[in-house]
Amino acid sequence: MIKKDILLSPGPTQVPEEVLLEASRPLIHHRTPEFSNIFMDTIDGLKYVFQTGEDVYLLASSGTGAMEAAVVNLLCPGDRVLTINGGKFGARWAKICRAYGVEAQEIEVPWGDVYPKEELEQELKGNPDLKAVFSTLCETATGAVFDIQGYGEVVCRTGAVLVVDGISGIGATACPMDDWNVDVLISGSQKSFMTPPGLAYIAFSSRAQEWIERSTLPRFYFDVRAARKALDSRTSPWTPAISLIRQQKKALDRIRDFTLGRLIEHHRILGEATRAGIRALGLELLAKHPGNILTAVVFPEGIDGFAFIRAMQDKYRAYIAGSQEPYKGRFFRIAHLGYMSGYDILTALSAVEMALSDFGFENPSGKAVAAAEIILKEHWK
Ligand SMILES: *Cc1c(COP(=O)(O)O)cnc(C)c1O
Repeated sequence: MIKKDILLSPGPTQVPEEVLLEASRPLIHHRTPEFSNIFMDTIDGLKYVFQTGEDVYLLASSGTGAMEAAVVNLLCPGDRVLTINGGKFGARWAKICRAYGVEAQEIEVPWGDVYPKEELEQELKGNPDLKAVFSTLCETATGAVFDIQGYGEVVCRTGAVLVVDGISGIGATACPMDDWNVDVLISGSQKSFMTPPGLAYIAFSSRAQEWIERSTLPRFYFDVRAARKALDSRTSPWTPAISLIRQQKKALDRIRDFTLGRLIEHHRILGEATRAGIRALGLELLAKHPGNILTAVVFPEGIDGFAFIRAMQDKYRAYIAGSQEPYKGRFFRIAHLGYMSGYDILTALSAVEMALSDFGFENPSGKAVAAAEIILKEHWK
């Protein structure tokens, strides 16, 4: 049989053809009015998706670069901060902080769980010297969505700043930066932004902008003071990733036409359909508060998780993601993120059914697809 690959991972995600083609256009020079217009339009589009009046800075890096930029632009050596760790990505905050001599007090949340804002409030009361709270919007390792709105309410009443990794969440789940009192918001091109990997985004509230001046951590390439200064001349301090920015602009034009509200609703529907399909198979979801980004599914008893994912990828060409350390082989993740349609979800569930049947699971054929179709059809207008 002719086989087609289908990308179902939570980054990189599928990219519209017109965005892919944008990369093949001849390069233009970046110190020109033509590029400046593209650059400023891209920033406008990012501000729309971040729901902020503040500038959004573009970094030529993957998302982690913007995480590092948040740390080095806000803090001083020896500062104490709180990091919320509900999975592999939440864990990264403390690692970056410690690499720079920042004292991270880590809240370890069991995978799939979230951290209630009431507990955060208590923690901040007991530790008035904490300078910042680092959280994740959607923990991509588990699919759990954290209560950023609640954290914003709590943190804005203290002297600390709230920093949110929205790399997978922004564009797929609500997180209006200004309304929710998020001080620093981060994202990247390769998740819901429908663009290949390689660009990271970061915005600072007016409160956080004052911190940028006070920070004494070493920084150069990711010094956002350079980005802010260059922005006055409608440009970036270093050579920008010209083609990627053109691609991101194209994708943002599309997102703006579609509207952010509809994009979030679209992701919600795909998530609901995926969960309905998985439940129809009698399988267990990992996250207690699963969101719009991905569905993590616990392997049923007796299935070898590694072999299952290999079969999904090699035989069915469906690139779902596995689970990461220390839960490797325990669950799999189907992303419903970025440029996907209802058919992509049906294909994903169909591949899961066929692979389950290969692994001796009784009678899976059609069950998940049928349940998902009901949800999708309801919204298919
Ligand atoms: C993908 C992702 C990252 C890491 O981004 P890179 O682009 O691989 O550096 C960080 N946090 C979350 C929540 C993510 O989903």
